[in-house]
Parts: sequence; structure tokens; C-alpha cells
Amino acid sequence: MFVLFLVLFFTGQLDMEGALTARDRVGIQDFVLLDETTEAAFLTNLRKRFCNDLIYTYVGTLLVSVNPYKELDIFNKKQMELYMGVNFFELPPHIYALADNAYHTMLTEFNNHFILISGESGAGKTEASKKILQYYAVSCPSTTLLNTVRDKMLKSNPVLEAFGNAKTLKNDNSSRFGKYMDIEFDSEGDAVGGHILNYLLEKSRVVHQNHGERNFHIFYQLVEGGEDSLVQQLGLERDCQHYNYLTQGQCAIVSSINDKNDWKTVRNALQVINNIYSVQHLFEIIASVLHLGNIRFDSDSKGHALLNNKAELRWVLSPFTIDHAIYARDALAKAIYGQTFTWLVNRINESMENKDPSKKTVIGLLDIYGFEVFYVNSFEQFCINYCNEKLQQLFIQLTLKAEQEEYEAEDIEWEPVQFFNNKIICDLIEEKHRGIISILDEECLRPGEATDLTFLERLEDKMGNHPHFVTHKLADKTTRKTLERGDFRLLHYAGEVTYCVVGFLDKNNDLLYRNIKDLMCQSKNAIVRECFSTMDPDSRRRPETVVTQFKSSLLKLTEILMAKEAWYIRCLKSNESKQPGQFDEALIRHQVKYLGLMEHLRVRRAGFAYRRKYEVFLKRYKPLCPATWPHWRGVPADGVEVLVQHLGYLPNEYKMGRTKIFIRHPRTLYATEDAYER
Ligand code: ATP
Ligand code: MG
Repeated sequence: MFVLFLVLFFTGQLDMEGALTARDRVGIQDFVLLDETTEAAFLTNLRKRFCNDLIYTYVGTLLVSVNPYKELDIFNKKQMELYMGVNFFELPPHIYALADNAYHTMLTEFNNHFILISGESGAGKTEASKKILQYYAVSCPSTTLLNTVRDKMLKSNPVLEAFGNAKTLKNDNSSRFGKYMDIEFDSEGDAVGGHILNYLLEKSRVVHQNHGERNFHIFYQLVEGGEDSLVQQLGLERDCQHYNYLTQGQCAIVSSINDKNDWKTVRNALQVINNIYSVQHLFEIIASVLHLGNIRFDSDSKGHALLNNKAELRWVLSPFTIDHAIYARDALAKAIYGQTFTWLVNRINESMENKDPSKKTVIGLLDIYGFEVFYVNSFEQFCINYCNEKLQQLFIQLTLKAEQEEYEAEDIEWEPVQFFNNKIICDLIEEKHRGIISILDEECLRPGEATDLTFLERLEDKMGNHPHFVTHKLADKTTRKTLERGDFRLLHYAGEVTYCVVGFLDKNNDLLYRNIKDLMCQSKNAIVRECFSTMDPDSRRRPETVVTQFKSSLLKLTEILMAKEAWYIRCLKSNESKQPGQFDEALIRHQVKYLGLMEHLRVRRAGFAYRRKYEVFLKRYKPLCPATWPHWRGVPADGVEVLVQHLGYLPNEYKMGRTKIFIRHPRTLYATEDAYER
């Protein structure tokens, strides 16, 4: 009875006085329980909750989160303790509830899970992933040894954010790399290890930032916050304006960022790297990139580049033109930074390594750069948005498609729900021989002949009348006015993006002059030496292009995820101006639409929240019925039927499939689970 009261109370059907008014005031906590499944009803509910500082709402077990752009008093130890070991729906929706349920399912079923956090840039993915990690750090049982692993996991965040995040026009702390982190648990539920996979860092930011954007945080932190002795030793000026690589966006100072304080946090967190010499080398690298950016070239009588300020540099380059010399300088800066970032991830992985990997289950956390559209979009946005297409495809496959296919396979009567499948866009980008990536790679194989514009022409030839692709040449009269000649436009699942082809070939080739690479192998800096010596060891083979490496890493990631049980957090951006209390309905409606939340809701509502193989269900709950305990001698399906009849399941609450029982609403299963716990 008490459980029922709790369910009613927290599903918004009762309030403190027991009157049916709470849903009017603060909305309901699970969209599945809405009276209507219209977009308007969905948005009204979301707005009500947002206006009451309730940023979380469920769609079944999927968590919708709206960025509040202000600190809420719901992320603290007391709240964490409240959610430990508690079922969904017994408390208001919370990211801790999702984290806790994934954790307990992992422990009871001894299987692997992952939490997919998606949403566009600035929607709150990274904040969400940090909250989950903090929750596990507090809620899992602990021993001294494990505290070390846990501490390292927590410290890895500020370090990787300093090196891999930057201010963009969308987000003051935008992730410019993709991150997948496995948290490994032993059978007792202790966090015993962690492992990070990193994806395509936006290296071009090291040498160039658009107006209103910054380089990676670490540069500003070191210049602003570095100790006097360190700054002096590294030959740095304590002024960001002094550095070419820090001033192109003209916004070194950002009101929401305190580089000085952040430096202290990062300095402390760098303890994850056990070797203090390495930390010193790391600072040297950051400083050297800044010095490199300040190298200028003049030209001699033959048009060769001459070093203008030798103080910054102590080596000699071949006779290059100025353009070549600048290109080589920037390529080197990007390579040094990119390699160092990977080195850093490797060191963090070593420090979090699970000492006994034989018995473990994992919860993977995926936090990748969100979909983004700027005024000018380049190769980087193309890769980021491609990645988001892949994740949306994964979501569709695992939820909308797989769910409906499973009902069919299990002979469960089912009214299909229509949804937009973005496979057509994924194919457009990545299909072998025909997709944009293949064409780009082919052009990269024609050095000297191919240019960004020939790449565009090849695209126009091949993609001619594709419904999701258009260029100036292919467009009708009205659309043509919105396109420049060097652009192509993709109609992504999340909206239109116009890409400027300038730089596509260079960025995809990512070439570094071999003599510079060789020179780096002799560097006095141990990190640089290590990084460049291990770089593409087979020098005869042409290195894979950037986008092809990215494509393979995403394919591998998909395989990793497909083998695990999925949990979803869909993050929504509340407004474009990063302001608290602003619920921009048009912006949110757009996200609700493209994230497929309405379709997900319809599938959930018409379908079954839980399903378990007959064997698994019977094994767990057979003690609850005298006829199935201690053994059921017949086939498992019959045993389950007897068991649920005994438990009083009503006919519309469940269905018997070919191999599994399907339970319509989580609360039915929770009541059973409560009975089991008792
Ligand atoms: P990107 O794809 O650019 O990396 P993101 O989805 O990871 O974006 P976050 O960096 O997590 O976005 O969030 C952007 C900003 O929004 C944060 O820096 C913070 O100011 C605010 N924010 C996000 N989530 C919350 C929250 N739960 N509470 C308070 N503020 C939040
Ligand atoms: Mg992020």
C-alpha cells in the first residue's frame, strides 16, 4: 500500500494533501503517464517541470534532462544517499536514480551496461557524465585501495577537460573530443578500475580559433595561473594577448571561466600522472606550442621563408615559402598537442588500471561532442555531426527498431510506430565507394591535382539528387540564394548544416613533414620523443586519413556498445543565451522532435517497459510462490505463468512471448522486486 502511495505521489497523481493537483502544478514525472501523447502535451509538461526547477523527467527508463543553467540543490551527498538502492518511481526523477538502477541491474544480472548521453552542444552531457561518476564514487562500497582508483577517475575529469575542452560560441566548456569511459566493478560492486577511449580531438583549434572562441583551456590556465617560477622557467609572458595562438578569437577572458582557479584544480588533479618529471614535461609542451605560434617568417630575395624571431626556436627548417613554413609550423603545433593528448589519456588509463580484470562487469559512460551548427562549418563540424548521426542511428536501432522487431519475433501483438530513420544520412556520409567520406579520401589520394573544389565537384556528380544533399549548383532558385559556391549542405537528422569545403583535404590528410617528425623523435622532452617515435611506425604505408580513422573508431565503439545493456539520457538545451529560467519553446520543440522523443514515448506507451527471459525471471522470483519453489519441474514459461498468477498480475499488465515475459509498467516489476527483498 505504501509503495502504491509512493508511486501515485511521485508520478504526480497525488500531492501532499492527497488532492489530484500536483500534476497541474509541477507536471508528471514520467511522460508515459501523460493523458495524451501530443507534442503540445509533452512540451507543456516539460515547461511546468522546468519552471519548478525539476529538470529531470522520465520516458519509461529513459531520462530527459533540461539544462537549467544554474546550480540546483539536488546534487549533494544527502541526495545521493536518498537514491541508493531505491527503485525508479519511488523518488522524483534524477540522474542518480538512473545511475543507481544501471548499477543494481549490473550486480543482480552480472552483465555489462552503458549510459548513452546525447544532445546538442551545450545541452549538459558532460555535466551529466560527471554527476554519474560522482554518484558512483560516493555510493559504491569502498576500501583504501579502491579509493585510489576512484580518486583517479574523478581527477581524470578536470585534466581531460583542461586539455580537451574549450569555449565555443555554443558552450563555454565545450568538449572538443569524444570520450567513452568504462567503469569496472568487481562482483561486490566495488569500482576497481577505469578505462577511457578518446575520439578525434579537434586539433585545428590549437592554431586557429573563430571569433568569440578560445583555444583549449589549459593554455590560458598556465599563462594566467601558473606559479611565477614555472612561468619564468618556461619563458612565458603572463599575458594571453602576447600569444598568436590565444588571441585569434579575441576573447581570452571569459566571465564564466576562472583560469587561475582552474589551474589549481588541474595542477592538483595531475597527480593522476604519478611521475612529476612527466608533469614538468607536459608544461614544457604547452609552453612550446605557445612559443611555436609566435614564430614569424619574413621572405628572402628568392621568396624563401626566413625565421624572424629566432629566440623562440632553435632549429633550422628547409627552404620553404612563407605559406609552406606557416603550414609546417601549424602542423607541428597540432601534431605535438594531439599526440600529447593521447599520451595523457594513456597515462590516466595506466593509473586507473584494474589489477585483477578476471572478474568484472562494466558500466560505460559515453560523452561525446554534441551536434553543432555555426555560421561557418568546416571539416571538424562534419566529423562531429557525423558522429552524432551514428549515435542517433544506434539509439534508433536499439530502441525504436529493435523494440518493435522484438515484439514481432516474440509474437506479441503490436501496432507499429512510424519514425524517421536517419540511416539514409549515415549512408550518404559513410557508404563504401559512394559516400562523402570515400570521395573525400579518393581526392586526398590525388595530391597536386585535387583541391577542395574538385572534391565539391565530385560530390555534386555523385550525390546529384540525394534528398539530404544540396549545393549551390544543384539547388533550386530559392535555396541557391542561401548557398555560396564553395558550400555543400547536409540535411542532418538534427537540422540543416552548410559546410564550407575550404580546408577539407588538408585537414583530412593531416600531413606532417617527415623531417620535422624525425627531428621530434630526437627531442629532449621525453613525452615528445615517445609520442613521435610511436607515430605510424610503418613509414612506407600511407597513413589512414583522419576521417577514415574516425569512421573505424566509431564502428568499433558501436560494437562495444551493442554488446551491452543500454540506458539513455537525452539532454535538452533550454535556450541559446545560456540563461537560467529561460525555456525557449521553439528551440526545445526542435530538439524533442529530432531526438525522436515523441516516437520513443509512443513505443514505450504502447509497449512493455520490461522483459526478461523466462529462465532469468523464474530463477530470481521462484521463492515467491510455493508451486515454483524450490524447483519448477516443467518448462520455464509455464513456471512463470504460475508464478505471476500467484503474484496477482492482471492480464493487461503482462504478455507471454516466445522466450520472454513482457511487463507493461515498471511498477509491476518493482512490486515483485519489493516482495522478493522482503
Ligand atoms: P558539448 O557538446 O559542447 O560538450 P555538453 O552537452 O557537454 O556540450 P555541458 O558542458 O555539459 O554541455 O554543459 C554546458 C553548460 O551548461 C555547463 O558548463 C553548465 O554551465 C551548464 N549546465 C549543464 N548541466 C547543468 C546542470 N545540471 N546544472 C547546472 N548547470 C548545468
Ligand atoms: Mg561536453
